[in-house]
Amino acid sequence: MAETKLMVWIDQDLCTGDGICEEIAPDVFVGRDDGLWVVKEESSHFGSTIVFDGAEGDGHGPEGSRGVARVPDAQIDDVVEAATECPGECIMIEPYDATIMAARGV
Ligand code: SF4
Repeated sequence: MAETKLMVWIDQDLCTGDGICEEIAPDVFVGRDDGLWVVKEESSHFGSTIVFDGAEGDGHGPEGSRGVARVPDAQIDDVVEAATECPGECIMIEPYDATIMAARGV
């Protein structure tokens, strides 16, 4: 698994569903059918796409604090801006942690 400097997740309990994060960083944030936003890893950065939306099956991963996506190095500034602009203050950016990555189960 390619390592990155940062990882990001969204606390869906606080998400207001406005989509500002995806407008700023569409490679990292995506809206879910229920109107809340989740994080993802795009194939253009990591070789395969994983959406951390809590759905079952290939290409999906856990939501919330267990649904932690790697941040592409080229997207760090945009992800930080999204977290700054997020009205729900629910975009959590953390230093890369291999143990947490391994616990995602994807
Ligand atoms: S910017 Fe924050 S509150 Fe708005 S959709 Fe994204 S995660 Fe949810």
